[in-house]
Amino acid sequence: MFKSNPSLISGVLAMQCPACRSHAVFATSNPYDLKNIGSMHPICPNCGSSNRVEPGFYFGAAYVSYILMVGLLCMLVFGYYLVFGEIFEHFWRLMISGIVFAVLSTPVIFRYSRIIFLYICVPLKRK
Ligand SMILES: [Zn+2]
Repeated sequence: MFKSNPSLISGVLAMQCPACRSHAVFATSNPYDLKNIGSMHPICPNCGSSNRVEPGFYFGAAYVSYILMVGLLCMLVFGYYLVFGEIFEHFWRLMISGIVFAVLSTPVIFRYSRIIFLYICVPLKRK
């Protein structure tokens, strides 16, 4: 019987293997477990696809991380503008909230940048 792979968006959001989309890439599901933030299964137990494509592979995820963080900070500034109607009158409040947001979201963005970069580079294996 034909069984389709989960969608791209649900695979990325669930941080699943880009090749089979049925097994988690990271060893722990909590991104705020900072001791194991980068712990990934070296090989997917379901399909055997390697999550360590080549040495230095995840340096490319830094570009994805940069795009995600800049996009989210732009959305924060836009949301701040929508709520308060200005951004320069209480500029330091905006800056501090941006810094707090960036620090708190860094573990999540770190993981999603790796996942997105994996999805860009690793093709889906059809079932
Ligand atoms: Zn897999």
